[in-house]
Amino acid sequence: MKKSQRERIDRFTSPYRVTSGKGFRLKDVDPGDTAHLKSEDKAEAKEMLARGVEWLAEEQDKLYAQDHWAVLLVFQAMDAAGKDGTIKHVTSGINPQGCTVTSFKQPSSEELDHDYLWRYMRNVPARGQIGIFNRSYYEELLVVKVHQELLAGQKMHPSLVTKKIWDERYEDISNYEKYLSRNGVVVLKFFLHVSKAEQKRRFMERLDNPEKNWKFSSSDVAERGHWKDYQEAYEEAIRNTASKEAPWYVVPADNKWFTRVVVAAAVVDAMAGLKLHYPVVGPGKRKELAAARRSLNAE
Ligand code: ATP
Ligand code: MG
Repeated sequence: MKKSQRERIDRFTSPYRVTSGKGFRLKDVDPGDTAHLKSEDKAEAKEMLARGVEWLAEEQDKLYAQDHWAVLLVFQAMDAAGKDGTIKHVTSGINPQGCTVTSFKQPSSEELDHDYLWRYMRNVPARGQIGIFNRSYYEELLVVKVHQELLAGQKMHPSLVTKKIWDERYEDISNYEKYLSRNGVVVLKFFLHVSKAEQKRRFMERLDNPEKNWKFSSSDVAERGHWKDYQEAYEEAIRNTASKEAPWYVVPADNKWFTRVVVAAAVVDAMAGLKLHYPVVGPGKRKELAAARRSLNAE
């Protein structure tokens, strides 16, 4: 990638990347931020997204061919922040054979019978693959922290459920992500940061527009009632788990066109950093290719 391209990407990624949680405050990120772009630059943003999507497709092809690295993209957000649309747009150019998307909802009884990371571990992408988590193990520090009665459902022995449980989970998750990165799984975490006012506007749209009615869920409105608790839980989770190995991106999410550009740029940036290339074949394989050519020519 050329230096000018890297610099362009950097303008969309570095303001939102958190690699150390010390002193991180959610209120320092404005959900309405669009960096240097104004709404009249939307067309430019769309063109950048299209270029990013193309780039991702090229990088993914090499990731798959090389079969050394995996990429795990974690998406977290309040309802209606645009996780689904972002995932749809950012992956639109990707070969489906090299990508899996897993959505995590309330755990099943089988899942609750295991340690809390179990169901996530089983879905970590294999080498050569991009894996997307639509919600993730971070719910264990978010919804479970906001609704602590959920912990009781996790069937842990009471002696293990102490005041320290959240600190223990920050530690478990940080260590797990370090482990993944040491094994060649590149972890990027996105918090799509929507404002409370914009969430209301989107809920209203779901109520007003018959084609969007199906997306509306009353429980989303109930969760909105816990807005402050969720914001605090997100801030704490980001503070305690942001690292160089597994950075958080706190992405302004009041303007969908901007959210998508930032996410695509962050993924392109991480994959470009791997310096992916197609495997170079050795002398043995070259001989095999030459023999195949001779045999085809002789037909
Ligand atoms: P959308 O609303 O866009 O379809 P969603 O991700 O909100 O997507 P839902 O089916 O509405 O999907 O909600 C899934 C719910 O599952 C969320 O409220 C989430 O907090 C909850 N959930 C996810 N993981 C856990 C967990 N480990 N324990 C308890 N609840 C969880
Ligand atoms: Mg929902």
